Amino acid sequence: MRAPTPFDLTGKRVWVAGHRGMVGSALARRLPAEGCELLTVDRDRLDLRDQRAVDGWIRDARPDAIVVAAGTVGGIEANRTRPAEFLYDNIAIASNIIRSAAETGVGKLMYLGSSCIYPRLADQPVAEDSLLTGPFEATNEWYAVAKVAGVKLCQAYRQQYGHDFIAVVPTNLYGPGDSFDLASSHVISALMRKIHTARAEGGSVEVWGTGKPRREFMYVDDAADALVFLMKTYSKPEIINIAGGEDISIAGLAALIADVVGFDGPFHFDDTKPDGMPRKSLDGSRLAELGWNPRTPLREGLVRTYRWWQNLDEEVGAGVDPEGR
Ligand code: GDP
Repeated sequence: MRAPTPFDLTGKRVWVAGHRGMVGSALARRLPAEGCELLTVDRDRLDLRDQRAVDGWIRDARPDAIVVAAGTVGGIEANRTRPAEFLYDNIAIASNIIRSAAETGVGKLMYLGSSCIYPRLADQPVAEDSLLTGPFEATNEWYAVAKVAGVKLCQAYRQQYGHDFIAVVPTNLYGPGDSFDLASSHVISALMRKIHTARAEGGSVEVWGTGKPRREFMYVDDAADALVFLMKTYSKPEIINIAGGEDISIAGLAALIADVVGFDGPFHFDDTKPDGMPRKSLDGSRLAELGWNPRTPLREGLVRTYRWWQNLDEEVGAGVDPEGR
């Protein structure tokens, strides 16, 4: 049985910070079903790293609730090569929004953490209480430090002032709205693009690393549904994972995407590129106990993502940019 609803979204003004991103755009698709009013602002009108501008915007827009889905994000190579942006931008975004939300009395705030906040060698699947029990994976420690700061800000404002701010930790996400820019994308969109190109032009597909790391993936519309569920029902200082799927090796993932795209050519594993975490999957049992489970099998999610990227799914495609800008 599902928990009762302590925070009813009906009629509320909900600001999704980061509504052009993959998660934010999925939330923008999902939230109208709750009967709430969606507030958004484009990045050319509001720089979330500018504290004064963020404060002014929140005071003018008067949201009842905020989801912090904004951030400077990217895959393993972007994390490694742009450490200052990943650290500074994400700390600034978290601290600006959370502080102004507290000072203006926003009733509910949900901050999105990331699976990379957990230690590199945490027991798998990773449970919430593994946080800060060991060193981060080096390839994403800048992003991880910033995301842990955001989580801790929610906990600190709850502890000191009693604000209903929660922090959630989605597993690796993919789907419509994902960035397909090879320099900054995560593995699913990168391999989909490379495999699609190889099918058209011939040749082999380069897969970074050994192909042995394992990752769990969740379709972004499932994650958006979990975010709405937690927004309505969850109010605790402890972080909670958004997970519940099986993991797959990168080599297995490449084969599955090739099947979806219709490519039967060879793969080349480039082990000069980093593997990153040997395994990354999250323990979703706390969320399952609350009554939520993911719905979309990986293959089906990959088919939908591919259709979206090919601009075949116009309904989902509206408002998001396949290059992730
Ligand atoms: P991570 O989960 O934080 O490590 O981020 P990624 O999604 O970028 O990478 C996941 C795994 O996929 C890593 O082991 C990468 O080396 C591997 N991988 C294989 N090919 C690619 C690729 O073309 N792009 C990216 N981003 N990762 C790749």
